[in-house]
Amino acid sequence: MTQHWHLLSPEEALKLQHSSPTGLTTSVAQQKLQSEGRNELKTKKKKSPIFLFLQQFLNVMILVLIVGAVVSGIVGELSDTIVILVIILLNAVIGFVQEYRAEKAMEALGKLAVPTTKVIRDGKPTDIPSPELVKGDLVLLEAGAAVPADLRLMEVHSLKIEEAGLTGESQPVDKTTDPLDDKSLPLGDRTNMAFSGTNVTNGRAQGVVVATGMDTELGKIAGMLQEEGSETPLQKRMGDFGRRLTIIILLLCGVLFLAGYLRGEEIGNMLLTSISLAVAAIPEALPAVITVSLALGAGRLAKRNALVRKLYAVETLGSVTYICTDKTGTLTKNKMEVVDLWVTNEADQMRMVQAMALNQDVKKQDNILTGDPTEVAILNYAQTQESFDKQWRKKNKRVHELPFDSDRKAMTTIHEYDGKFLVISKGAAESIAQISIGDDTVIKEQEERMAQEGMRVLGFATKVLDALPADITIETIEKDLDFLGLVGLIDPPREEAKKAIHECKSAGIVPVMITGDHPLTAASIAREIGILDNDQQKVITGKELAAMSERKFAKEVLDIRVYARVSPEQKLNIVKALQNRDQFVSMTGDGVNDAPSLKRANIGIAMGITGTDVTKEAAHMILLDDNFATIIKAVREGRRIYDNITKFIKYIMTGNAAEIWSIFLAPLIGLPIPLLPVHILWVNLVTDGLPALALAAEPAEKGIMSHPPRDPKESIFAKGVGRHIIWVGILVGLLTVGTQWYEINSGADHWQTIVFTVLCLSQLWHVMAVRSHKESLFSQGLLGNKTLLGAVLLTIALQMAVIYVPFLNNFFHTQPLTLEELAVAFGVSSITFWAVEVEKTFKRNKK
Ligand code: ATP
Repeated sequence: MTQHWHLLSPEEALKLQHSSPTGLTTSVAQQKLQSEGRNELKTKKKKSPIFLFLQQFLNVMILVLIVGAVVSGIVGELSDTIVILVIILLNAVIGFVQEYRAEKAMEALGKLAVPTTKVIRDGKPTDIPSPELVKGDLVLLEAGAAVPADLRLMEVHSLKIEEAGLTGESQPVDKTTDPLDDKSLPLGDRTNMAFSGTNVTNGRAQGVVVATGMDTELGKIAGMLQEEGSETPLQKRMGDFGRRLTIIILLLCGVLFLAGYLRGEEIGNMLLTSISLAVAAIPEALPAVITVSLALGAGRLAKRNALVRKLYAVETLGSVTYICTDKTGTLTKNKMEVVDLWVTNEADQMRMVQAMALNQDVKKQDNILTGDPTEVAILNYAQTQESFDKQWRKKNKRVHELPFDSDRKAMTTIHEYDGKFLVISKGAAESIAQISIGDDTVIKEQEERMAQEGMRVLGFATKVLDALPADITIETIEKDLDFLGLVGLIDPPREEAKKAIHECKSAGIVPVMITGDHPLTAASIAREIGILDNDQQKVITGKELAAMSERKFAKEVLDIRVYARVSPEQKLNIVKALQNRDQFVSMTGDGVNDAPSLKRANIGIAMGITGTDVTKEAAHMILLDDNFATIIKAVREGRRIYDNITKFIKYIMTGNAAEIWSIFLAPLIGLPIPLLPVHILWVNLVTDGLPALALAAEPAEKGIMSHPPRDPKESIFAKGVGRHIIWVGILVGLLTVGTQWYEINSGADHWQTIVFTVLCLSQLWHVMAVRSHKESLFSQGLLGNKTLLGAVLLTIALQMAVIYVPFLNNFFHTQPLTLEELAVAFGVSSITFWAVEVEKTFKRNKK
């Protein structure tokens, strides 16, 4: 029978779940986890390694090749068939290893991103991974949290939950705790429940878990949820490009086959040659390779504390032109310390200290204060004051609260007070001045005095009420208070912030500070770390922004470096305005209200430590250490990954082009086709493959952070990549055909082995030269990419084996070369290297 939890009282629900106000014990929870299963929705099964391996063969061209090889084996030479099959197998192994690594990297990322939930276990609040929640657990919710399971609410404070994902209702719903009496209420009207998959937008609450995993209301409809498409723009573009190229190559191979046939070549051989060329030259693996590079890049980023949620971000990081960042905790250490105290009236000193001691959510665990650093600092300071009284917390129990939100920039608590009620508000000085009685001019003067020195300033006000209004809301409570005074706190900048800002600017990226703090405080810190460094750069406040016309804002937005006292909603306007001016914007955020602007930003970045679930959900990337410097590291890494992808494409496509040229040019000047199918496949699927993979390990180029960001719409073939593929492809084609012509004319009987070796070695020389787009290998150093060097040496060894091992000679139709011939092959192929070095010299000189 399904239990209708919304009909029960909180106490009944608690009892039915065999729980208590102190929560479950850890041991009971563990037993329940065993018997009930994890709190997870069953998602699609991941690919098994065997499936992943078999998938490498599921490719039309490879299948055609296998069939072709088998058929030609039956009618002709079986050894060809065996070699081709072995080459395909080797190629599949290389592809499999790559993809498997990428899957593992993605899986590891998934594990890092597991959400956590605050629960009460053994009577103490603890954070546990949400999948380990069990029925009967007491869950604590606060603004920004994703509801982790279905809960019967037991205690609520201004709780609002947005349930659009479940009910379609976009307005957040006010929640209560009272039992309801209609069994068949739709989910949206069960206001004393919180459902898995919905988000807290406001307030705090506590509830008992009544359903987990697939038993939740969300689980019941989980089958209907679909995964969003995950192709990145680059993958899409390369996919489209590959399809077009495939058609061209198929046409070319058709022409090759026809021409060969007309010239009277043997049909079976011609067919296999054409198919081999098609398999070799069609870059159908490119999108997969890009995914692998991005996924492995994401893995490396995670090690540097930047957790990528959408692969797309890895690719686009390099295009960021504006980084809009929070101040507190990101640019600063979020290690607050009270350094100034000002009271309006000396006689109020004790009331001020009492207000500071009581108006906070700091928790004490094992004698350590934990919670919002601002509040911890204020409480710490209050405790050192002479008038501090330890008994306050007991005597003046908190009975109500209006939680902090960053729009009104204040919070209020209500305490018992000898039969009456003590109301305490704290917040931004002007927010508190607005709701209290006091001399606004003097308050403002004092506030500015502190803010100018970079202090964060908070005001306090109190009042005593004989009775509480029936309805406790911001409107009924936050008014007519007595202004008590101000505290000034310092929060020093992070040591690495200054350097990171400097690097950011030299990379052509504009850093912008967006903060809820006072403009003077913000400007002071912005100046200290280098965000503000000349008079053209502007500081504006949320109020000024709100009063500005859209046109004026659009005109000024590029000059504004600091936004102070802004509300999270305004962040969205800032992103839009920058995007309208063709900027590629990255935006950080932590609170629930930041989610829309993060979603809208080109790269939305959520804070890993202070960020709420909702923000993380909306973000493209999560900063595990909340540190601005990490964003810059990620940009650098993003640029490197993109760079390496272009190098990879440059290398692979040049190689493909070279093969096509060789096969086509030779018959044009009356020479036989220079290579056998096995040679084409060997060069393309094996000896090209290993070095190509190793290009991903190429370190960042010197000066990678001193050129401006890449235009996100820029083609991957821009900046000379396309030109390079064409001319180097032709060059290598000429080298192989030239060698063929020379060797045939000078009567060398194993000319084919020489040509085959020239082609193979040219690729290796080429890969060493494309390690950098501009820098010479000699200044880069041979050992700069040891993986690549290893791959090149291994490939040379493999090629030598094919030439010199008698057993392989049979299979590859090769003959051992004399030392002289080998030297010729090395020498001729090295022309590729020198030519590309010259190209790079030109590029360097152009700058
Ligand atoms: P940033 O966006 O740089 O992180 P911030 O953290 O200062 O800025 P908010 O947390 O929105 O932004 O704070 C805005 C203002 O609200 C602060 O300047 C302070 O005056 C006030 N404030 C901050 N924390 C509290 C708190 N716990 N209680 C009352 N007021 C607070």
